[in-house]
Amino acid sequence: MKKECCFCGRNEHEVKLLITGINGYICESCAEQAYRIVQENLSKTPQADEGQFRQKKVPKPKEIKDYLDQYVIGQDEAKRYLSVAVYNHYKRLQQKKDEDGVEIEKSNIIMVGSTGTGKTLLARTIAKLLDVPFTIVDATVFTEAGYVGEDVESILTRLLQVADYNVEAAQRGIVFIDEIDKIARKGDNPSITRDVSGEGVQQGLLKLLEGTVVNVPPKGGRKHPDQDYIHVDTHNILFVCGGAFDGIERKIAQRLNTHVVGYNSVQNVRKIDKKDLMKYVLPQDLKSFGLIPEIIGRLPVLTYLNPLDRAALERILVEPKNSIVRQYQKLFEMDGIELTFEDEALQVIVDKAVEYNLGARGLRSIVESVMMDAMFDMPSKKVKKLVITPDYARKQLDQSRLQKIGA
Ligand code: ADP
Repeated sequence: MKKECCFCGRNEHEVKLLITGINGYICESCAEQAYRIVQENLSKTPQADEGQFRQKKVPKPKEIKDYLDQYVIGQDEAKRYLSVAVYNHYKRLQQKKDEDGVEIEKSNIIMVGSTGTGKTLLARTIAKLLDVPFTIVDATVFTEAGYVGEDVESILTRLLQVADYNVEAAQRGIVFIDEIDKIARKGDNPSITRDVSGEGVQQGLLKLLEGTVVNVPPKGGRKHPDQDYIHVDTHNILFVCGGAFDGIERKIAQRLNTHVVGYNSVQNVRKIDKKDLMKYVLPQDLKSFGLIPEIIGRLPVLTYLNPLDRAALERILVEPKNSIVRQYQKLFEMDGIELTFEDEALQVIVDKAVEYNLGARGLRSIVESVMMDAMFDMPSKKVKKLVITPDYARKQLDQSRLQKIGA
């Protein structure tokens, strides 16, 4: 076989490098050119031609739930609802337009559950799994346009920021709107007086939830005539709303009572679990609470989170992949110290969390208080093992700042 490039015909003395193949050679410049052609052609796949953001393969609902199970304890019902809603959402995005006239509508989600039960954690974990831009906004900062406070459009500024201003990516992101219950209007009747932080905001939000093209000021803040806007289409953004809806149980109970009387069904009465009314939540309860019907209509997936009981709190301490206990163990491990918690010490921590009534939210700061002194002293000591006993935990908590503030 002659030693020459099969593409350009130059021999080994005319080129710097000849790469040997089974039936011939290729020189360095032809190899480079071939590489460029490959690159150009690959970037011309139909997806890129349409300027689409490439979505990672969307996992099946069961896979989504399995993933959530690694990080979030309990809340099975919410996990199932979320998994299906998210799966359908991304299926909807893959749907070709005008295939058969069936247009799948968006499945925005609303989660009802008291504070610290895992609403934000669920939304955050899903976004991590899907690797899409994700942002959390607090509904309480919004006011109707023109009033002091933020416009609802600022939600999209945040999403753009986390997406590094990649508009395509932002348009497929997930937005978690926390404390949606705080923008409920103050009564079931439309108000006569101005309600700039309630119904006005709901109206503003409605447009985003429905899907619209919004002019977004790239740096946030109020709209300014001289500013260049970025156009963001919200049709494919998934909105997940969460709220504690304090007192909604009363509305549910009222509805259930009237229902029972109305249908005179004795059986129904027996079946109702009075301790856990949240699981009977229906869209009309959200309306009684003060969300306008249009908003409720745009949040078709309604699910609830259970209050966390002692057993759940204890599991949260140890079970999730990045559980609080594991995090502290990691911290100590870096100093070559093996940290363990006696079961009863965990009970002491759970007792405190129950006392504070902050759901799982209080756990972290309680453990921090227990561990503070040890984290200060241990790295300078020669000890290689630390066991947290219930007495030690109690002692640390008694003298901690948490106790003094009476948080
Ligand atoms: P909220 O329901 O108020 O949005 P979060 O999701 O912010 O509550 O929860 C606060 C913290 O409590 C989380 O960061 C997480 O560490 C912990 N947590 C709450 N619920 C759970 C749960 N079900 N499983 C595991 N951790 C949880």
